[in-house]
Amino acid sequence: MTEPEKLVLRGTPVRLPPRGLYFAGEFTEAAAGETLPVTDPASGHRIADIPMAGQQDVARAVEAAYSDQEWSHMSIGERASVLRRVADALEENVEEFAFLESADTGKPIRDTLGGEVQEAIDWLRFFADIGRRLRTNVIPNLPGFVNYTTRAPYGVVGLITPWNYPLIGAAMKIAPALATGNSAILKPSEHTVLTALRLAELFQNAGLPKGALSVLPGGPDIGQAIVEHSGVSMISFTGSTASGRDILSRAAAGIKPVSLELGGKCPSIVLKDADLDSAAKSHAYSFCTNQGQLCTATTRVLVHEDIQANFLDALVHEVETLRVGDPWDPATQVGPLIGKFHYERVDGYVREAISQGAEVRTGGNRVIVEGCEGGFFYEPTIFVDVDPRSKIAREEIFGPVLCVSQFRDEDEAVSIANDTPYGLAAGVWTQDVARALSITERIEAGIVYVNSLNVGSVATPVGGWKNSGIGLEGGIENAYAFTRSKAVWINSGGENPAI
Ligand code: NAD
Repeated sequence: MTEPEKLVLRGTPVRLPPRGLYFAGEFTEAAAGETLPVTDPASGHRIADIPMAGQQDVARAVEAAYSDQEWSHMSIGERASVLRRVADALEENVEEFAFLESADTGKPIRDTLGGEVQEAIDWLRFFADIGRRLRTNVIPNLPGFVNYTTRAPYGVVGLITPWNYPLIGAAMKIAPALATGNSAILKPSEHTVLTALRLAELFQNAGLPKGALSVLPGGPDIGQAIVEHSGVSMISFTGSTASGRDILSRAAAGIKPVSLELGGKCPSIVLKDADLDSAAKSHAYSFCTNQGQLCTATTRVLVHEDIQANFLDALVHEVETLRVGDPWDPATQVGPLIGKFHYERVDGYVREAISQGAEVRTGGNRVIVEGCEGGFFYEPTIFVDVDPRSKIAREEIFGPVLCVSQFRDEDEAVSIANDTPYGLAAGVWTQDVARALSITERIEAGIVYVNSLNVGSVATPVGGWKNSGIGLEGGIENAYAFTRSKAVWINSGGENPAI
């Protein structure tokens, strides 16, 4: 066995994954010999080149899945053992994965080490034997017939993930897809491929049959090729609404089921009786965690006009004490944005809003961090008195940028909250349970947090409403999504009334 490759990044050793596409149980070169650059967002330096899949490689991966179907014939218990072995291996290597994820994404090490790797482990363990918990029906029907339904895997499924939580995103899709007996082809984001490849190595070492998993680093064209390949029967996608729309239209040609977890512009309503200190802390965390690169980040706060001044003072205090810095520093709470392309997008929104007269209460600039001068760090930014119809209040920026607007009464607050094409998540802050429930009922979103933000669990199915998606991830529902129903009729001595 060759020694794993190590990289020293600003004094910290990071173990790199095998450089290769993963399919048929091996790491291999891309057919066309092309590579993807891997950039450290904290320094802007290129740290590795990884083989990049082309169209031919998609065909090779699908072929590999069809030529070895051992996985689909294994029992649920045998499959569960493989998934548990991977979860255990991940648990033994939490530190290594945390450093690799932070090197690739710029995430503060306190986040990757403090919970993100653990979340990936939770997904693998929760779904390991989920097949045992799927329920089917025996339907009392015609006399002389036994009629029941079963759930069957789709066969080969395509999994396409974004760059904001690469390891969790990969585990979230691979675990339910494999546990239900499918073979999976994962295409991680072209911006973050390292932890998905290392995860594939754990599956390889855990004895996963060769045809069960492929990992193909590559760009949107590879995602499109997976969606359009006739050998891929179902697509699970997480990413932007624009890409989701394109995938939906491409999948239509093959009448393929899709699950789409898409973008958000999540509102939170802060009523007059809210606990302001707790609300300020939660909102600061929600729009700044992961540098604001979180689909469920609260980026529109609607505050009752009577408490706006006090709430803002508390919020700005919380935000200005957040530490922006080198991801390796355990005290860092906000790291760099994922890359130059994204820095320009976030800054572009901020500059345009300012040029149109929007008022910045704090932030709005690049941060130069000592030792990371080439990094794409951005100050947490709060706009106040924002017109809810303006571009910054309506479009997903996906950076640490918050819009604060005020309202006079609950009806106005709910109407502003719902006046968006998105419907991913929303918050309600009040000490009055009846009001909280009444607003919760009227909110058009797949998740509503009351007196909290950004809580979640692998056991809870979640999915966006409106332009935020189709389908559910998490919980038993996620396992149903990776299987299809078959109704069986057995003639046990009856007569078919149709004949
Ligand atoms: P993106 O849509 O640009 O890319 C996501 C993935 O899809 C990448 O792997 C990309 O290569 C691929 N891709 C892009 N266009 C494609 C196409 N037309 N066909 C097939 N594949 C395609 O998104 P991103 O910038 O990587 O991620 C940020 C977005 O993801 C944000 O909008 C965020 O809200 C969303 N997101 C949503 C959730 C959720 O659960 N709802 C979770 C995380 C991120």
